[in-house]
Amino acid sequence: MRVEACGVGLTVLNYMNGNHSRRPEDLPRIPGHEAVGTVVEVGAAVTTLSAGQRVMSYFYLFCDDCDLCRLAHEPLCRRLRGQVGVAADGGYAEYLALPARNFLPVPEGVSVVDATAIPDAIATPFHVSRRAAIAPGDTVLVVGAAGGVGIHMVQMAREFGGAVIAIDRGTHKLKAVSEFGALAALDADTPDLSDCVRAVAPGGVAVAIDLVGTAQTLGACLEALGPRGRLVLLTTFPGGVTEVAPRRMVQAEISIIGSRYASRWEVAQAARLVAARRITPVVSEVVPLPNVEHLHDRLRAGTLLGRGATCPDRS
Ligand SMILES: [Zn+2]
Repeated sequence: MRVEACGVGLTVLNYMNGNHSRRPEDLPRIPGHEAVGTVVEVGAAVTTLSAGQRVMSYFYLFCDDCDLCRLAHEPLCRRLRGQVGVAADGGYAEYLALPARNFLPVPEGVSVVDATAIPDAIATPFHVSRRAAIAPGDTVLVVGAAGGVGIHMVQMAREFGGAVIAIDRGTHKLKAVSEFGALAALDADTPDLSDCVRAVAPGGVAVAIDLVGTAQTLGACLEALGPRGRLVLLTTFPGGVTEVAPRRMVQAEISIIGSRYASRWEVAQAARLVAARRITPVVSEVVPLPNVEHLHDRLRAGTLLGRGATCPDRS
């Protein structure tokens, strides 16, 4: 059951390292995990899609048959084959063939370029917000707030009712997160950063979302949490380990929550929020396919809004 989609929108938001799996047998590979296009042909058994339909990719290659897939926990699929653009060819191409279940409709009124931000950069913050149970009145710390996921995490946390303290580096990036409604935007290089966070949230934050994933940022997030605080982790590095103090975890009833991508239902909800103008997709640059390599060089150098200087594993 396969469908071909014409890749009319270049995936400017591709984030993952093309060798994400670090398995030589997966190379060479066409990267690009947030693909948007128009269906040109469907397999004989496909009933959910038809030619001419605008679709976006769901980038986990899930089985759709195990107990967790049936519970709509597709990222936790017991027979996960990996990700589009990593374990299967992705969207940096004119045509893309994937199982029909890996495509979701793009809502009316959402442009092709805006839609490229939905499958990961907007859907992931939706899942994070649900994992953290962000509710009105919560103060939410977002570390790495001007990145591709971060800039939408700021918006999504607000959509769930949170007041956001955003942390990133540089005047340009801090201005951007402020424009998306952050209560406070703090520079990560501020010497007394934890004091600045405390000044905004004297009782500690309800939720801390670490999009950077270093030992330093994890420590800062744990320190910032107030009673019943929830730390959400979604950026990891191979072999990364951090220490926690069990006594503080118990005494303040701190929760540490892992968050992995989003379900298909959550991707569809993220699309609805974009269509309803509740979330604004932030696409910093659109380039033709031959210029993608240069764009990636700039992403690695950290000179584009929306992306940092490294390619961590954020699965
Ligand atoms: Zn499954």
